[in-house]
Amino acid sequence: MKDVDLKTKWQQILEDLEKQISRPTLKTWFNDVNPLQLYNGILRLEVPNKLVKDWLENKFHIILLKIAKSYFHEIKNIEYVLNTQIKTRTRVSKYSFQQKITIFEVTPSTNLNPRYRFENFVVGSNNELAFAAAQGVVTNLGTKFNPLFIYGGVGLGKTHLLQAIGNEVLRKYNNQKKVRYATTEQFTNELINALKNQTIDEFRQKFREVDVLILDDVHFLSGKNKSQEELFHTFNELYNLGKQIVFSSDRAPRLIPDIEERLQSRFEGGLVVDIIPPDFETRLAIVRLKNQERAYYLPDFALEIIAERITKNIRELEGALNYIAFRVKNISNLNKDKVEEMIKDYLKQNIKKISPKKIIKVVAEFYGLKEDDLLKKLRKKEIIKPRQVLMYLLREIGKLSYNTIGELLNKRDHTTVLYSYEKIEKEIQQNFELYQEIEFLKQKILEN
Ligand code: ADP
Ligand code: MG
Repeated sequence: MKDVDLKTKWQQILEDLEKQISRPTLKTWFNDVNPLQLYNGILRLEVPNKLVKDWLENKFHIILLKIAKSYFHEIKNIEYVLNTQIKTRTRVSKYSFQQKITIFEVTPSTNLNPRYRFENFVVGSNNELAFAAAQGVVTNLGTKFNPLFIYGGVGLGKTHLLQAIGNEVLRKYNNQKKVRYATTEQFTNELINALKNQTIDEFRQKFREVDVLILDDVHFLSGKNKSQEELFHTFNELYNLGKQIVFSSDRAPRLIPDIEERLQSRFEGGLVVDIIPPDFETRLAIVRLKNQERAYYLPDFALEIIAERITKNIRELEGALNYIAFRVKNISNLNKDKVEEMIKDYLKQNIKKISPKKIIKVVAEFYGLKEDDLLKKLRKKEIIKPRQVLMYLLREIGKLSYNTIGELLNKRDHTTVLYSYEKIEKEIQQNFELYQEIEFLKQKILEN
């Protein structure tokens, strides 16, 4: 097919697409996308970076293919090729077999996310005890280590291990065991609702009729008497039936303030293990694994620099890896200095203050909304999510207090802001599309 024909038809495809998605969305994702060739039924599209590539593959592939088929009957598939790959032929073939990014979703009945498994947990001297205990729990359900209590700082893999226990129990016992995972915040909120709506029986059924109860972040119980009491009875009932219970917390049981003595002693009644920050080798193994899992293909020297620079927290380690992967335009031109520079920028974004104005502007533009509508107390459905994203970003990169954000958004209560922030934060752990959307917005905001 002649280049001109391909180009004209591509324009028509875009016009059709625009009828189905909004214009800002079209502009955001398709501005720098160009048709390269149509050969053997494969339409090759050139895309500017990894982010756009992922986005098109995950979000627009089916609809795009459908429209494209109406213009080119012979078409069988669409391939998205990074700008850099076009230059060297050999790499095209390598990249076109790239593994698909999988989107993991939480199973409602267990509240488990299948992405967290023992097999993708890197074991180092910092977490080997916790890991062994977690595995031990699965093979000795309700007997040997009951309860298991894992504690350690933020982003060190507690949730990963807890969820891996749940997933492994389901696998090992062919879904014959009932597993329930909850964050302590969920437990507390559901209890409040159950008391309010007089559905306490259902609540108890949910948390007591299980073989394995996994409760994450129990330090959240501090000062919450009702929840402590409920958990105490839940615990006793499960324990007496020989059911397995697993807890996590950001500190040892004795150090959680404002918590009943009797609950503390339950926490300590089984096995208590900690997780500490990983050493360099473990950090490197982790970034290598994530690099592979997410099909980033960053070279090893880049991974080493990341593992050297980010030492405290694995979530931050992952954050730096993503940050760099999304920004690399041309992998073959990447060098140590560029990686160092990007890490500096990544770390700076944690310190640098960005004007709220800029954040509001970018978010409004991205979702095709008026800035005013975004800030006002309009209850329109389509504004709810963009507004939550806005609050999240005002906090995350704007570094504003919940109160200030509330003020900015027409005097909203700070608890509303807190709720939105936590909702989005949780969701991006589980929803890869939203995660990319936020990464993209951050990149736009931090540009220039
Ligand atoms: P915590 O619950 O302790 O705050 P998480 O379990 O949420 O931490 O871990 C943060 C991120 O780091 C998750 O994406 C998790 O998969 C990853 N992670 C933590 N520890 C490991 C590890 N040892 N191997 C692989 N990934 C890890
Ligand atoms: Mg956690």
